[in-house]
Amino acid sequence: MKRLLPFVLLLAACSGSQEQSPEPQWHVVDTDFSKGRLGNEQTVTFTDLEKLHGHWCDGLVVGALGLGEALKEFYPSAPIDRTDLRVISRSSPCLTDVAIMLTGGRAQFGTFQVSDTIPGLYIVQRISDGRTYIVKLRPGVKPALIDSLGRLAVARTLSPCGLDSLQAIEASFGADLLAQDPKSTFDVKELTAFQWPEPAFVTYTKTDILNKNAPRCAH
Ligand SMILES: [Zn+2]
Repeated sequence: MKRLLPFVLLLAACSGSQEQSPEPQWHVVDTDFSKGRLGNEQTVTFTDLEKLHGHWCDGLVVGALGLGEALKEFYPSAPIDRTDLRVISRSSPCLTDVAIMLTGGRAQFGTFQVSDTIPGLYIVQRISDGRTYIVKLRPGVKPALIDSLGRLAVARTLSPCGLDSLQAIEASFGADLLAQDPKSTFDVKELTAFQWPEPAFVTYTKTDILNKNAPRCAH
């Protein structure tokens, strides 16, 4: 039940509404087997993200809503093609898990990189046409206390009660984000002529997308 807390908070914030706010979800498309064609459509929910990541947290909300805004630019009325995207993410555990889940990017195939020097949360590119977007959280949206207490927690100097306080503040922040239009909290801008950095390690061929555009059997 603990992971429902932010949605309960969100419900409480909805001035008497008895309906729980629907959780964010994304429609994605992949290939349909190990050497398959494009066309396997699925819905990825915020709960799926939580299962991959291990817990509900505000960073997961930030990443999912922010990256989701960029993906809407690529696919305003079509499923997110997880065979045609690559992404650079900031290093936070939450942001990186959102990146691989929603884009299909993977480090071993050269489609997922991590950098804390990018001027935003994510840079995401559609490989086939080179269109590239950068995602930023608008200044002042995130409570400063989350970063200051977070730094203490990372240094492992935050007290047990301080950790509980930080969790409550993050839960409230995440619920606030879920209740707002992401367009008011994120900046998504197109980057022109962005040169994708070469991965600094060996990458491999993603063999399950090589036949993604193969025609169907005629017999
Ligand atoms: Zn997290």
